Parts: sequence; structure tokens; C-alpha cells
Amino acid sequence: MQDSARVVIIGGGIIGCSTAYHLTKMGWEDVVILEKGELTSGSTWHAAGLVGQLRGERNITRMLQYSVSLYEQLEAETGLATGWKKSGCLHLASTKERMYELKKGATTARSFGLSRPTVYQALSAFEQGGLVALEPQKPGPRRAHKLNEEVVNFLEDTRADTPHLGIAELVVAVEEQFGLSVHPRSIERALVRRKKKRR
Ligand SMILES: Cc1cc2nc3c(=O)[nH]c(=O)nc-3n(C[C@H](O)[C@H](O)[C@H](O)COP(=O)(O)OP(=O)(O)OC[C@H]3O[C@@H](n4cnc5c(N)ncnc54)[C@H](O)[C@@H]3O)c2cc1C
Repeated sequence: MQDSARVVIIGGGIIGCSTAYHLTKMGWEDVVILEKGELTSGSTWHAAGLVGQLRGERNITRMLQYSVSLYEQLEAETGLATGWKKSGCLHLASTKERMYELKKGATTARSFGLSRPTVYQALSAFEQGGLVALEPQKPGPRRAHKLNEEVVNFLEDTRADTPHLGIAELVVAVEEQFGLSVHPRSIERALVRRKKKRR
């Protein structure tokens, strides 16, 4: 084994592996992980894999949003299936106070572009349209109309030149370059689709 490296990361859990992944993605070379057991054999091995996105702090929410977009694209990027499954969850309230908290959370979630329909919305849909109204709506067109070839090429080039840019920054870049307001998720999906197409 080599006896020196530019970066030595001690511990190959999710934090160590993520640090190595991001450093190398930013172009750093000679990055080594030292793991006393097996990679991800610590707490990471026990984790259920739940990734809630909405948190009390803006930066943590943004980081979790980034995590989700990363997990969504890792397979396309590496060819290795992570087992990532994106599912929703149900929040229940049995007191007025908890309901107030959930509604407040729903409003905050919307401001982050997360969809978190409240029970009231589900109830009102049920009252108006019965069980059928609770079924997921038909998906829209597969590709956002705004994200044409030119815009996706621009996104890819920008990502390649400045890999550290997050989705939020790409939203701003698209707005500046094309005057388009695009939802962050649309950008994430467009980039993943393009990667899959290339494989
Ligand atoms: C039962 C359980 C369920 C969980 N579920 C979730 C969940 O659903 N969602 C979620 O987000 N989080 C969950 N967590 C929390 C999550 O697992 C941890 O926050 C996360 O895995 C911590 O990652 P880490 O890289 O910091 O630590 P670890 O995964 O513990 O990695 C540390 C690594 O360092 C190595 N190491 C330690 N000392 C040395 C040394 N001196 N030299 C070399 N190597 C060393 C260890 O062997 C280990 O592999 C759960 C945790 C548990 C226990």
C-alpha cells in the first residue's frame, strides 16, 4: 500500500465515501480511504435508507434535496444499482397542534419545490372525486417542453466545466442564459435521462 497521499480519509462509511466521491468528482486525485473493516460496514450498514428531505434549516433541506438527486443519478453514472427507491410517506396528525405543524411544513415544502400534499388536500380530492381522485394523476409529457436539446446541452456542458455546481445554481444559470424558469426536478430528470441515453 502507498505510504502517502494528497488526501487520506479515515473511515469508509457514507461520510468517508461521499467525501472521496465529491473530491474526485471535483478533479482531485490521489485520494485514499482507510477503512479498518469493510467499506460501509459501520453505522451505514445499519441505516434503513430513509431520506426525508424537509428539515428546519434551509441548508440542510437543500443538502438533502441534493442527496436525493445524487442517489437518483448514481446508477446511470456508475453502472452500479444502489437499490434506491423513491417513495412518499404519510404524516398523521391526531391533535390540532400537530395538524398546524404539518400544514406549516407543507407550506415550507412548497417553497422548496417539494410536493407534500396535506391530508386536507387528499380529503378534499376524495370528497370531490371519490377514491379515483386519490390515484396518481397521469404523468405529463416525458420531457419538460422548456428543456430542449440546446438547454440540456448547455446544462451538461456547465456541469462538466463546473462539477461542483448544484441543481439550484443550474436553475439560475438556465434563467440567465435562456430566460427560462425551470423547476429543479425537471433539470435533475433531464440530466439523468441524457446520461441514460448515452450509456
Ligand atoms: C439502525 C440504524 C438505522 C439508521 N437509519 C437511517 C436512515 O434510515 N436514514 C439515515 O439518513 N440515517 C440512518 N441512520 C444513521 C446513519 O446510518 C449514520 O448517520 C451514517 O451511516 C453515519 O455515517 P458515517 O460515515 O459517519 O459513519 P459509519 O458508517 O459508522 O462509518 C465510519 C467508518 O469508519 C471506520 N473506522 C472507524 N475508526 C476507524 C479507524 N481508526 N481507522 C479506519 N477506519 C475506521 C468504521 O469501520 C466505519 O466503517 C441509521 C443508523 C442506525 C444505527
